[in-house]
Amino acid sequence: MRDLFFLSAADFVVRSSLVQPGPLFAKTRETLSCTVAVCVRDDGSLVLVDAGFSEAACRDPIQELGCFTRRCLGLRLSPEHAIVHQLEALGFDRGQVAAVVATHCHLDHIGGLCDFPNAELIATSEELKAIGDIAPRLGYRPTDLAQAQQLRIAQLTGPRHLGFPASLDLFGDGEITLLDAEGHSSGHLAVLLVGPSGAYLHAGDALLLEWEAGQGFEGPGRVSRLICTDARALDRTLEALRQLGIDESAGSAPRIVPAHDRRVFDTLPHAPLDSGAVSDPRSTSRSA
Ligand SMILES: [Zn+2]
Repeated sequence: MRDLFFLSAADFVVRSSLVQPGPLFAKTRETLSCTVAVCVRDDGSLVLVDAGFSEAACRDPIQELGCFTRRCLGLRLSPEHAIVHQLEALGFDRGQVAAVVATHCHLDHIGGLCDFPNAELIATSEELKAIGDIAPRLGYRPTDLAQAQQLRIAQLTGPRHLGFPASLDLFGDGEITLLDAEGHSSGHLAVLLVGPSGAYLHAGDALLLEWEAGQGFEGPGRVSRLICTDARALDRTLEALRQLGIDESAGSAPRIVPAHDRRVFDTLPHAPLDSGAVSDPRSTSRSA
């Protein structure tokens, strides 16, 4: 992999008490990210882990997503949040995106897929079933799947890896490995990424914030528990993440990247190594 960096596709402003441990009545708010990993492969093609919201939704969230969804999620979007816009600002072309790996198919994770005409969507069959169900499930938007030009079902036939029960080495080179991290949703993935700036585990929504896999305060948090589809599977996934967290502090495990943890996002690389760009992780949130 030639490069690996992270962009945020949205801001979510939520009550801290929903996502942090501690008293429920606290009135403070905090801003969550919507973290997308950008892998630049040696052939110049891009693989994204998740894709945020579409350019159209970022321009007009009420028209595209509806007032209810926007309010419920505390969603703040502006045109600059669109991943396609951010990639173009960094000098990439939307046609370079060859694949979007979906940690899961919720609207805040694959809504941006439609902006990439050459991208195949890689997701588990459970996620594709959930989004394609006739009766829409919470968080899934069938129109997002309808936009997919090509689909690849991720079959996790590889061995147990990093404490997760099954895996798939996407290109057979160990650089992008899909891991079974079920719980938040039925076919949820975590994605291990090994790039020049280090190893990262994009954990999607397996945990909302880093503390949920911590020691002392242990998750899942209130919202994670409330919205998961399988509480026992979520506990298993969190146990694997917790062990990784211990190994990470010992320097022997990838950095865990929850999709919505703004504090973690702020510590990540936000531009290609050779771009010379000064990465300002809050540049998008200022314009929200
Ligand atoms: Zn999410």
